[in-house]
Amino acid sequence: MKRARNVKILATLGPSSCEPAMISALHKAGADVFRINMSHASHDLLRTLVARIRAVETEVGRPIGILVDLQGPKLRVGEFADGPVQLKTGDRFTIDLDRTPGSAERVCVPHPEIFAALEPGHTLLLDDGRIRLKTVSCDGNAAATEVVVGGKLSDRKGISLPDTTISFGALTEKDRRDLDAALNAGIDWVALSFIQRPDDIAEVRKITRGFASILAKIEKPQAVQKLDEIIELADALMVARGDLGVEMPLEQVPGIQKRITRAARRAGKPVVVATQMLESMITAPVPTRAEVSDVATAVFEGADTVMLSAESAAGQYPLEAVETMSRIAAEVERDINYRNIIHAQRTDPEATGADAISAAARQIAETLRLAGIVCYTASGATALRVARERPGTPIIALSPNPRTARRLALVWGVHSVQSEDARDVDDMVDRACRIAFQEDFARAGQRIIIVAGVPFGTPGATNMIRISYVGTDGFAGL
Ligand code: PGA
Ligand code: MN
Repeated sequence: MKRARNVKILATLGPSSCEPAMISALHKAGADVFRINMSHASHDLLRTLVARIRAVETEVGRPIGILVDLQGPKLRVGEFADGPVQLKTGDRFTIDLDRTPGSAERVCVPHPEIFAALEPGHTLLLDDGRIRLKTVSCDGNAAATEVVVGGKLSDRKGISLPDTTISFGALTEKDRRDLDAALNAGIDWVALSFIQRPDDIAEVRKITRGFASILAKIEKPQAVQKLDEIIELADALMVARGDLGVEMPLEQVPGIQKRITRAARRAGKPVVVATQMLESMITAPVPTRAEVSDVATAVFEGADTVMLSAESAAGQYPLEAVETMSRIAAEVERDINYRNIIHAQRTDPEATGADAISAAARQIAETLRLAGIVCYTASGATALRVARERPGTPIIALSPNPRTARRLALVWGVHSVQSEDARDVDDMVDRACRIAFQEDFARAGQRIIIVAGVPFGTPGATNMIRISYVGTDGFAGL
């Protein structure tokens, strides 16, 4: 199954999309990777969904990526004694560690870490930013605040602190249990929510030990500030616009999206643009013009992946949402300005064999109008460097490792196939031609370019390119 676009689609599973027939339909319609959100899924549901996705994988014979999204430190206020309270602009309001139910004067915020880090002047945003408080004073157990924007506050509403770096560990206790269950279930990507510090990634990597790749969700201003260090340590990024738009002024989000996308592309790390992409399709079979334009912008910018959240997880039209996203992406990529726009951001090769060869392979493939760039990649690293070139020629990644093939489902333009390592150069050429032919990229008489490293099976040794004709039987021709 060959997609008619380079950008990938990540679809969140949920009540609207957890049945096997729907998962299969979503994949066929265009979902390359599925997201399981641990804010909502139990461990039983996680295991069930992974088994259902793997069954679809067997049915269609294509690797499918699974991303498990950890909830992270989502902070919440406590409960109120007599139902919701009304906070009035200009009033004082106290938050503290006292578990007694709250009133219009105070409420418990059961996170001591907050009081250790909060300073006068820091902003507190409650209920997705609808209520805004400003810290007046803070000791270790309580903080006095002034209500800057008032509103109705009810039990357990979320609270975010855009100015405060709170010393949470990389993972909460729940995250640790969820990650353990996810690794046991054999997932491919783990997404870290609300990360603030680059060190968080290194700590999680000690737990994942290569069994899953790590995606850092950029949804806090602290993470935006440390973007370069985070990119360096993470395997992929997400522009998590939902929480980013709460923690930062909404009008800054589009600029930040561009910065993150460009920085990730320069580093050759996959980047996902997420949240509200086709929001109105939760309740309608067609999107708004603005949403179509939003998806198109991410595709023009060269993002690796666009994501569906509630649209596919809890909406009334999950299948239509995936189909719509796929159609928009394919159309944008056919636009006459697409190649110019995507290459307006230069990603010059770094001084490595893999980059020099990737850049050369792209140039040769485009000059000779070859049918495909076939790259042998054990860890996926070579495929990432080829994809970083954003070539106009399809990329077919061959890996003996099924985990690599699945992880690459998140990467721009990469059609991955699990295949044994080549035995020798003849086998390398034959295998590449046969797979390009079988997977419908090359017809007999067309040529492909092959990127590989000899000796075969040695990681980090990309050192060879070879052009070959595809014969009538799909094997290497003359
Ligand atoms: P969430 O993350 O859907 O888990 O909140 C994405 C976002 O914040 O945009
Ligand atoms: Mn979020």
